[in-house]
Amino acid sequence: MSKLKITKIEVHEFTFEMSDVGKDYNGFNLVYKKGSNQKGTTYITKVFTNDGVTGEYVGGDSPSFAQFNMFADYLIGKDPTQRELIYNDIKRAMRKFDKMGMGSIDICLWDLAGKMYECSISEMLGGWRTELPCYASTMHGDRNGGLDSPQAYAEFAVQCKELGYKGFKIHGWGDYKLEEEIATVKAVRQAVGPEMDLMLDPACEINTWLEAVKLGKACDEAGFLWLEDPYKDTGISMHGHKKLREIIKTPLLQTEHIRGLEQHVDFIASGATDIVRVDPDYDCGFTGAMKIASAAEGFGLDVEIHSPGPAQRQMMAAIRNTNYYEMALVHPDTPEIGRSNNIYADDYKDSLDVIDKNGNVGVSKKPGLGVQYNWDFIMKNRTGGRVYGR
Ligand SMILES: [Mg+2]
Repeated sequence: MSKLKITKIEVHEFTFEMSDVGKDYNGFNLVYKKGSNQKGTTYITKVFTNDGVTGEYVGGDSPSFAQFNMFADYLIGKDPTQRELIYNDIKRAMRKFDKMGMGSIDICLWDLAGKMYECSISEMLGGWRTELPCYASTMHGDRNGGLDSPQAYAEFAVQCKELGYKGFKIHGWGDYKLEEEIATVKAVRQAVGPEMDLMLDPACEINTWLEAVKLGKACDEAGFLWLEDPYKDTGISMHGHKKLREIIKTPLLQTEHIRGLEQHVDFIASGATDIVRVDPDYDCGFTGAMKIASAAEGFGLDVEIHSPGPAQRQMMAAIRNTNYYEMALVHPDTPEIGRSNNIYADDYKDSLDVIDKNGNVGVSKKPGLGVQYNWDFIMKNRTGGRVYGR
């Protein structure tokens, strides 16, 4: 066989519907709203080679697609198994940018390699586990009769506990009132009892550092497992979080909003976080994200993988120093989770009720990512895209 080469890459933009979902106070957070529909937009990337083996992945957004446009032609003719070389070439070429455009293509190349070697990505990375413990990660609070009060969160936490979840994470309100956030922390702990792991992620909505201190102290009192991205520095100030760690006892989980290996390591080394966030889609694919997981391991810390999906499952199955799979964003009144499950042609699904009685989900042993995408659905809802090579 002649040398394996990438001959063509297709990227298709498509939309999907989310039912009973609206937007909150300033039009950004998705929240429960009965009878309202929202359209989401995402992308499928598919890599073709001269010997017929392919790789594909659904993920990314318009800024990452725009970045991909800047380096897609470089990939044509390259050996798709040289993921480390490709990572380093693109990283240098994209040094002015956050490099989120690398996520989808790197994941495609791992999917392709798995299909070629006939093994799952978690096997290629080195297996650690086959069962993934999940936490229920809520939608943001709403004012529409869903998660609209501390009591509503408390009832939902009990429902999740009864389903088998060992952990529950509150995403609070966008238009928050600090007393209400604190009351929610207390009410949820009181409702579920002492055993359930509880987390709070204000997703950077809290206006001031001192309000973050107050919220952190409430988490201390309620015995929360972690506090994540509390305030409006948007999770990126090493100094601010180092100071916060000196004052509150609850472990901080940061680094969801900084990109790449070196910045994660600097954040850890400066003492600005207890737990490290990583996302294969955001942090340069499996190639970039596994470097971050290993760096955290070297510091004696854990990484927690952001958001659900087949790539997250494959990665988590191959890492020791991680605890939970994030079943996000769940809500008591709407079954849909973020990206529609319509994109799968097989039985792959992320939703509130897919866990087993022990609170776990599994990981596919099929080659690559181990999922079949529903190309009929994707092409029926296609809104744009581009083909590179031929
Ligand atoms: Mg978060």
